[in-house]
Amino acid sequence: MEPRLFAVLLGLVVGSFTNVLIARIPVGGSIVRPRSRCPRCHAQLAWWENIPVLSWLLLRARCRSCRLPISVRYPVVEILSAVLYLAVLDRVEGPPWLLFARYWPFVTILLATTFIDLDHRIIPDRFSLGGLVLGLVTAGWDPELGWVGAGAGAAVGFLSFFLLAWAYSRATGKVGLGGGDVKLLAMIGAFTGVWGVLITVLISSVAGSVVGILWALFSRKRDILGVAIPYGPFLVLGGLCYFLLGGAEWFQFMRPM
Ligand SMILES: [Zn+2]
Repeated sequence: MEPRLFAVLLGLVVGSFTNVLIARIPVGGSIVRPRSRCPRCHAQLAWWENIPVLSWLLLRARCRSCRLPISVRYPVVEILSAVLYLAVLDRVEGPPWLLFARYWPFVTILLATTFIDLDHRIIPDRFSLGGLVLGLVTAGWDPELGWVGAGAGAAVGFLSFFLLAWAYSRATGKVGLGGGDVKLLAMIGAFTGVWGVLITVLISSVAGSVVGILWALFSRKRDILGVAIPYGPFLVLGGLCYFLLGGAEWFQFMRPM
């Protein structure tokens, strides 16, 4: 099969599974049983109601049993997953098994983490710490990083996070960044190295500030400091920007000599 088509199809299927992770991991449910059900009426879904994106379109975004709307987030997560899988294939060099063992799991963890943090304001350890272990273990085969680069990235992730948290609390007088965020940043470091962590911190703090200000402007409360926006998604954004665009020509100014 054509590799890019394969990446898209795999991304869609894993994206469908990512929806299960997002729904079940934070509430401690099993990720294999029971089979997929409508979250509202609990009717079990037939196989053809479980096809990524297509089923949502065929069902016209409504449950067949209760006719209540099915969130657009399901196909969105599946499409994001497919786009990320394709982007990883285009960006990363190395043997194909490394895509399965390292790079594709990395983006799936980031995708699941983003929506779990948005929903529940938590970042599960099995993603952040599990990802950290995976990132360190598989780094030896990463032609760009190696074990030393990944270890240094994770260490700088820990350290720079505390700086970021300190700056945030000095600027706002609040404790805004949590323990989940530090583990996530260390994990991103294990996949992108020292430079990746620093760029992630830069992009996430700029994006976080912009969104925080816009949020304060458009919500009725004119209180920037009172806004509690989860920081994980911004870390993910920064990490993905570096990971996927870091090789691009126009991005080179952001890389060391
Ligand atoms: Zn239903």
